[in-house]
Amino acid sequence: MVKVYLRKCPNYDDSEKILRDLLEKFENRFKPEEKVLVKPNMLSPHPPQDGVTTHPRIVETVLKFLLDLGVKPFVGDSPAVGNAKSVGKTSGILDVCEKLGVPIEDLDDPIEVSGRTYRKIKVSRKVLEADKVVNLPKLKTHSQMVFTLGVKNTFGCVVGREKASWHLRAGTNDNFANLLIDVHLIVNPTLTILDGVIGMEGNGPSNGKVKEFNLLAVSENAFALDWVVVNQLGVPPNIVYTLKEAGKRKLIPEFEVDGEWSSTIELPNTVDVIPIPKILQKMVRQFVRVPRINKNRCVSCRICENECPTNAINIDKKKVDYSKCIRCYICQEVCPENAIDLVRKIL
Ligand code: SF4
Ligand code: SF4
Repeated sequence: MVKVYLRKCPNYDDSEKILRDLLEKFENRFKPEEKVLVKPNMLSPHPPQDGVTTHPRIVETVLKFLLDLGVKPFVGDSPAVGNAKSVGKTSGILDVCEKLGVPIEDLDDPIEVSGRTYRKIKVSRKVLEADKVVNLPKLKTHSQMVFTLGVKNTFGCVVGREKASWHLRAGTNDNFANLLIDVHLIVNPTLTILDGVIGMEGNGPSNGKVKEFNLLAVSENAFALDWVVVNQLGVPPNIVYTLKEAGKRKLIPEFEVDGEWSSTIELPNTVDVIPIPKILQKMVRQFVRVPRINKNRCVSCRICENECPTNAINIDKKKVDYSKCIRCYICQEVCPENAIDLVRKIL
């Protein structure tokens, strides 16, 4: 039966020993000379204390474990802002790679592959040609998808701007969750290791509030891991789109939890947790959270304008065209100045 290991971890200084003890249970999953992609969350250039990217100490422990087994690891991601080296530099992951002599690469060079729900998904050749993948997500909320955990982290294996365009192609959050699930099944990580020592609550995944969750979680199955972590945060798993859709696709296996941990979390303000009576649902759907550019904080870098999949943003006018906006919240996710507020509006 699938196991989900939960370990309390008070800080990153203690993480090496705690994680190494867990990793040793999985030694026989790897063979010498295998090429293994280590896929952290490298969303955008942030220092480790921001809680946005997987902490370099976690990456270092995993790389040392693989190197000791004679494996040939490389670190890769396809960041939303910048590239693997620039995000690696700010996040501390590049230093770790250089110290250990491990390559750090952009997940580019697309190959079109098909999932069960979607076809023509452009996944990096480097992912498909790796012998194995080790998935290193961060515990964070996500304004669109409620959480970003193990299943969503593998979406970084889809190349560059393709990721933003999928928000438009998928249309609804349920459809987008099915795309994330398709990608996760294609990437098929051997191991998922969640960095929840420090993570993010509120309007994550980059402009929320840093929170100490003091958790390390490991499993061979990210669906089970995500389900357990969400449940232990006191959040009903079925409000998380990837878990709801994975449940419908019967992808959440029977599992056993080893270890104890629980915490609380503030969800994004885009999420309605209290069930809304049917009679009010239509009205509430019209009264939605939309992005609004905060003129005092915006520095006109145009990152949001370039990343918006529907060209709904005009930075010269500091305006969002709500007739085009699909509320994917990518703009809020990529803004380096936290200058996109999510406000209620009747559409
Ligand atoms: S990303 Fe943020 S700072 Fe840059 S233009 Fe958009 S709102 Fe302004
Ligand atoms: S304005 Fe923001 S939320 Fe709306 S479609 Fe563009 S990126 Fe997505």
